[in-house]
Amino acid sequence: MSIILDGKATSNQIKEELTIQVKQIKDAGKRPPHLAAVLVGNDGASLTYVGSKVRSCERIGYDSTLIKLDDDISQEALLDTIEKLNNDPLLDGFIVQLPLPKHIDEEVVLHAINPNKDVDGFHPTNFGKMALGMQTFIPATPFGIMELLKRYKLDISGKHAVVIGRSHIVGRPMSILLSEKGNPGNATVTLTHSRTQNLADITREADIVVSALGVPNFLTADMVKDGAIIIDVGITRVPDADHPKGYVIVGDVHFDQVKEKASYITPVPGGVGPMTIAMLLQNTMLAYQRNQD
Ligand code: NAD
Repeated sequence: MSIILDGKATSNQIKEELTIQVKQIKDAGKRPPHLAAVLVGNDGASLTYVGSKVRSCERIGYDSTLIKLDDDISQEALLDTIEKLNNDPLLDGFIVQLPLPKHIDEEVVLHAINPNKDVDGFHPTNFGKMALGMQTFIPATPFGIMELLKRYKLDISGKHAVVIGRSHIVGRPMSILLSEKGNPGNATVTLTHSRTQNLADITREADIVVSALGVPNFLTADMVKDGAIIIDVGITRVPDADHPKGYVIVGDVHFDQVKEKASYITPVPGGVGPMTIAMLLQNTMLAYQRNQD
């Protein structure tokens, strides 16, 4: 039986800490940090994510702006919007919610964001700094996982960490952070992906598994070593007629099976998801502090 890594409670703690910081800023007569989110189109999941990011800003006292753009907006018009946000002195950071519609080149858009305002940490300048261990905006999901490990005081130094998935926003940065010098860090990392052969043989050797592939219940008990730390990044909407929303959120890990073998495990929902939002807020505070200097 494993201990639950409670991302919801931990993220609430981080938000409380940030609330205190914001109060001190306001008491000093200064404006609070300001985050904007750009949402293109009406994708249900994206609306939910952006909505909770905006609500979290309001809850801790940040200013927030939601910019909703039509699905058929041209790439040029979107780039114009980004340029305006880049040049707004009263805006500390902003994110462009992914995925973008097919006719827009995601890479061009993400590279147009001023790295000093790129609180998602997706710009090559920030990604490069992260890879070199320099202070920068770390992509919020892997940053949240590192923070969760830190706050639960889990020692992963010298341990074998297996990351499933090599995306630029989760798997790849995760593999870099886990292997970096530091605490948490210093792990020996294997990065696996869709072309990996004999994946189960590799995960069975892992002291820590971070699963970020987006396949519901993919990681089963037979793929996990006794006592492993299991981090589930996956979020998939699975249709469910019995649920009022018509779907349920399912992680990559077969929770009921794996919790019997793991030492620590993140639930879905309530694990990595809330931590992602907390770290976005943390990155916005860093952007604000730099903007004030
Ligand atoms: P992605 O689709 O960009 O990447 C998926 C990765 O999984 C790829 O690198 C692919 O090689 C790998 N993969 C696919 N099938 C595989 C298999 N059978 N075996 C091994 N590897 C395989 O996805 P992403 O953006 O990294 O997101 C992954 C999941 O995490 C999704 O469910 C997404 O919704 C979720 N996510 C959650 C949060 C959060 O805050 N909790 C944030 C971002 C993404």
